[in-house]
Amino acid sequence: MSVLAPIRIVPAGGCADAPVLRERGQHEVFCGLTGIIWLHRKIQDAFFLVVGSRTCAHLIQSAAGVMIFAEPRFATAIIDERDLAGLADANTELDRVVQQLLARRPEIKLLFLVGSCPSEVIKLDLARAASRLSAKFAPSVRVLNYSGSGIETTFTQGEDACLASMVPVLPASSPGAGTEILIVGTLADVVEDQFNRLFRQMGVDSVKYFPARHADDLPQVGSNTRFLLAQPFLADTSKALQERGAKRIAAPFPLGIEGTELWLRAAAQVAGVSQTRFETAIAAPKQRASAALARSRALLEGKRIFFFPDSQLEIPLARFLARELGMHLVEVGTPYLHRQNMAEELALLPAGTALSEGQHVENQLDRCTAARPDIVVCGLGLANPLEAQGLTTKWSIELVFTPIQGFDQAADLVELFTRPLVRRMRLAA
Ligand code: SF4
Repeated sequence: MSVLAPIRIVPAGGCADAPVLRERGQHEVFCGLTGIIWLHRKIQDAFFLVVGSRTCAHLIQSAAGVMIFAEPRFATAIIDERDLAGLADANTELDRVVQQLLARRPEIKLLFLVGSCPSEVIKLDLARAASRLSAKFAPSVRVLNYSGSGIETTFTQGEDACLASMVPVLPASSPGAGTEILIVGTLADVVEDQFNRLFRQMGVDSVKYFPARHADDLPQVGSNTRFLLAQPFLADTSKALQERGAKRIAAPFPLGIEGTELWLRAAAQVAGVSQTRFETAIAAPKQRASAALARSRALLEGKRIFFFPDSQLEIPLARFLARELGMHLVEVGTPYLHRQNMAEELALLPAGTALSEGQHVENQLDRCTAARPDIVVCGLGLANPLEAQGLTTKWSIELVFTPIQGFDQAADLVELFTRPLVRRMRLAA
């Protein structure tokens, strides 16, 4: 029986040591509060209380859409002029709001106090408030805090901050416990179920997910934990897990066929799965995904794409579009480049790819409009002006809201890029 070899990525060229243009200027991205939209859907008995302004309330309400049938599991405790002027005790107000909320919603097991720009401006100490309220409502409710403020975070960093705030309360695994694989990063339930089926077919059942679907289903963590990042924007969470003794499994991210296969292979190798069993488990979904991508390749091959820095998904997406669909990468911007967590992705990027880190929106707009790419991936705020100039755009936020990981989602992922191009071609016809 041949055992799976550890993944070693030896690219033809790669961008492992490629120079990166560092941009420091005006930002055009959503803040970390946006992460509440997918986090509250995932952790079913958690509640996110934003301590912020009416602007913050509008942002999450409009991003989440109107919820008619269910009581939402997020809200905003509004900091008003009296709080800002220091006339009211914001802590007393916050305690009162939390008391009311928990009395009305007894199903809440985990409450996040989410910091915002206004809570930072008035220097409201939410860490102290969380520990005070946790002690008050223990053991039925745990209260944690993190910041989603636009001063500190871009939109996917909210998830990183949220998960990192949970790491210290994860139970310790018992000494001598066997190797456990932990998948880290929010995945849609449908994607998680598909990965679980694949792992079961490989004979691996000791896979846990973080975050889990229920607040009290906290995975154990310790030196026996090997974690696999499912999302590329989890630098702080990754660091916090390593501080608890866990080790990262090096792999690219599960986007596209190649990324998904290498990601699964890395986990299977840690679990001691044989080569044959691994190949058998992935054969059918890989075949389905190949057939689906072949249909889109004709449309995308040779097309030029420009990524503005937004979600931190840019590098894995660029790798997928270049290697599996033959697209040409004009520029790949990312808000932050974590070289260690991104090492396997960088090695797979075509040699000579123009990489940039951080944002200077004016400079990037100049480069983008001069290059006239076939498609631009950018934030909502930039899409309309670029469309008005005749460029085709894709909102990067849609790539975070849509389930795109794994073999069975590869077709949906590629469709997110073909759809705007087809629409533009119809308009031009
Ligand atoms: S946290 Fe800051 S950037 Fe985000 S909505 Fe509130 S005020 Fe705006």
